[in-house]
Amino acid sequence: GEHCGRRSAQSREQTYVMVKPDGVQRGLVGEIISRFERKGFRLAGLKMFQCPKDLAKKHYEELQEKPFFPKLVKYITSGPVVCMAWEGPGVVASARKLIGSTNPLQAEPGTIRGDLAVAVGRNVIHGSDSVANGEREIGLWFGEAELCKWHLELTPWLLE
Ligand code: GDP
Ligand code: MG
Repeated sequence: GEHCGRRSAQSREQTYVMVKPDGVQRGLVGEIISRFERKGFRLAGLKMFQCPKDLAKKHYEELQEKPFFPKLVKYITSGPVVCMAWEGPGVVASARKLIGSTNPLQAEPGTIRGDLAVAVGRNVIHGSDSVANGEREIGLWFGEAELCKWHLELTPWLLE
């Protein structure tokens, strides 16, 4: 039908997801990528990256007045991260559900933080909190040429 050739704006929603330095060191990269892949989202961008301090500050600029901000910047720049752009219908909210609450001790079992972390300052993963922030963060962390516009052939088996 109408939707076969052209994908709707809603199914092209994107979010920025990042395995933080503790997740990389603990060997959780594959596990985390798998959860998003198996859910049915399209991986639009993926790279390993040592985050410079100024980018960490920009990424978390909404939190700059928080007492934990210096620790947060130190945490995010303490080792390489894995940057991802994921795409799909409702991907921003869905990724937040897959990730779980900020405090891993409050995160539900079955979520990434609920299953794999115990401390708010070592909560292994980031996910954008709104569609606007998803766009902003993908723009911060990825260059245009790093985002791949491949077609997920499984789409008719994932979307009605
Ligand atoms: P998120 O969107 O669930 O990642 O949470 P926030 O945007 O509120 O905070 C960003 C990140 O800052 C969190 O993922 C934590 O790593 C860190 N963070 C948030 N609150 C605290 C806190 O109270 N203490 C410490 N040490 N880190 C925090
Ligand atoms: Mg946040």
